[in-house]
Amino acid sequence: MAFTFHWRDSGTPLHISLNAGTLTLSFDGRVNLSFDGEGRLVGAFWDEVTYRRALDNRILAKWIDPRWPQRRRRRFLNDDERRSLIERVYTATVDLSTGLLFGQLTPPADAPLVEIQDWLAAVLRWDWAKLEGERHRFHSVYKPVPILPPDQYLSTVLQVTEGCSYNKCTFCTFYRDRAFRIKTGDVLQDHITAVQTFLGEGQSLRKGVFLADANAVIVAQRTLVPMLDAVNAAMPAAQQAGIYAFVSAPDAMHKTSADFAELRARNLRRVYVGVESGHDPLRRFLRKPGNAADVRHAIETIKAGGVAVGLIVMVGVGGERFREVHRRDTLDLLAGVPLGGDDLIYLSPFVAGADAPYVQDAEAANLGRLDENCIEQEMRNFRDRLKPWAQAHEVRVSTYDIREFVY
Ligand code: SF4
Repeated sequence: MAFTFHWRDSGTPLHISLNAGTLTLSFDGRVNLSFDGEGRLVGAFWDEVTYRRALDNRILAKWIDPRWPQRRRRRFLNDDERRSLIERVYTATVDLSTGLLFGQLTPPADAPLVEIQDWLAAVLRWDWAKLEGERHRFHSVYKPVPILPPDQYLSTVLQVTEGCSYNKCTFCTFYRDRAFRIKTGDVLQDHITAVQTFLGEGQSLRKGVFLADANAVIVAQRTLVPMLDAVNAAMPAAQQAGIYAFVSAPDAMHKTSADFAELRARNLRRVYVGVESGHDPLRRFLRKPGNAADVRHAIETIKAGGVAVGLIVMVGVGGERFREVHRRDTLDLLAGVPLGGDDLIYLSPFVAGADAPYVQDAEAANLGRLDENCIEQEMRNFRDRLKPWAQAHEVRVSTYDIREFVY
């Protein structure tokens, strides 16, 4: 539902939409603000910059580099910038609410004025201090959520496990701060309840359920099945939009296609496999478990159970030394697995954290780092080579930039 109001004095339009659990205010197309069902800021577009607010009140800014129109830049705002943005957002919303209250806006005939005022009242219950307080609430419910696949940014995350059971890939520092742990029984139930309470009405903008952290699917089938039953019983979104999770190839190989069919019957719709590379020497260099044949076998097993896959490839990893062989063997691997319309391939421009062991290993091995231009070229190379095959198999190929993630 979208409605166009006009300011009486200037005639300037104001668009208000109530869609998919989100209130969006669009001020003459120049400024857009969106809020969840609790009235918390979710995103904004202001002065040509897009902002995404995370549930812990960090804010990521993204903009197009004017010198390179193809390139997006991004960074997290510092405390002063966050506060300034939030205050601007809430001032604009107060002005709008006052304008509606005092008849300074001409509404369209079909506008649900009471519903809109209720939404605005929910928004105006928040201010900088209360939103900043969400950081503490978030951390009482969740360990930091370092990454999700892009199509899962709007899922409800349940940390049914914490950490990564392997945790040794040299390029990955996502879960170095925590030990691997499985939540079951009352601990799991308490976590689900805490997440639901924290999200409140904000759950209505969220689609599916993502089982975090790195490899929830490794959980033994006799434990995982009741875990999914508990998630389905508590979360209608799991039944409507499905359940999703990461899995590594060796972990998937601990299960049979019948196991995956059993999970599919409990709404596990897609798992995301960090393929990274199809070139075995590079996989060994990265200390990525399993080889390309294992990845192929794991994908076949998952797919035979009726669960879709999202395959993630790191473009630019291994530097100049591995550039050609990484591309060749990874494309060969992708072309050899049975993908279809429900599956995704993510090309992820490689970014190594400064504290990742990969950085020192790559320097010691003199791999020759690929700069931003080279990685962009590699992204094009992968995309161009994949295109005919992906079109023929109706497989979507998208970019996965881990620097753009917020939950
Ligand atoms: S890349 Fe995946 S398997 Fe490797 S350490 Fe990170 S989370 Fe674990």
